[in-house]
Amino acid sequence: MELVCASANPDKVAEIASILAAAGVELLARPASVADVIEDADTLVGNARLKAVAIAEATGLPAVADDTGLEVDALGGVPGVRSARFAGEHATYDENVELLLARLDAAAAMSPEQRTARFRTVVLLRWPDGNELVVEGVCEGVITAERRGTNGFGYDPVFAPVEAGGSTFAELDAAQKHAISHRGRALRALASALGNR
Ligand code: IMP
Repeated sequence: MELVCASANPDKVAEIASILAAAGVELLARPASVADVIEDADTLVGNARLKAVAIAEATGLPAVADDTGLEVDALGGVPGVRSARFAGEHATYDENVELLLARLDAAAAMSPEQRTARFRTVVLLRWPDGNELVVEGVCEGVITAERRGTNGFGYDPVFAPVEAGGSTFAELDAAQKHAISHRGRALRALASALGNR
């Protein structure tokens, strides 16, 4: 089976390709001619659908798209679907992390028990006829008091997954992260759903 990847991020494409290869899927690159999609839906599945529909319509092939949010309990689930733009439309990873730490300070959420959070990834596979397969992956953890580690991206330096013995995602290597990450889990769920079809 051939799927077109809606993401243009080479790290994500490599991760998606390697996990879906287990289900006999060949992942094709996103055509450069397709314009970037404005991700303005108010849910993860809505944003994943916007991206997948654009690629499925442009290529006539099934397309796979993902969208991820960080849900912080002390902040009522924020930043969630707005994780990429938390500190503003063109915010850097560092500005988003800074705002997250400041918001938790302002909420007086200082202990690990008060700083629980999860990454949630939705992966949506859309066929040109409108059929869809939607899967989800979740990784539970806590927001640390300070940044630790230099690997990964986004909120990785301040997210300590419960299964990582206190390390942040940014202190794990890529294979260790993918084994427990939200995206790894969602993609393995997709590979297994496709394998069972
Ligand atoms: P996207 O849907 O994968 O583009 O993710 C939206 C935003 O969530 C990104 O801009 C990052 O800030 C954050 N994010 C997504 N996945 C991760 C991750 O694995 N680690 C840290 N931050 C992430």
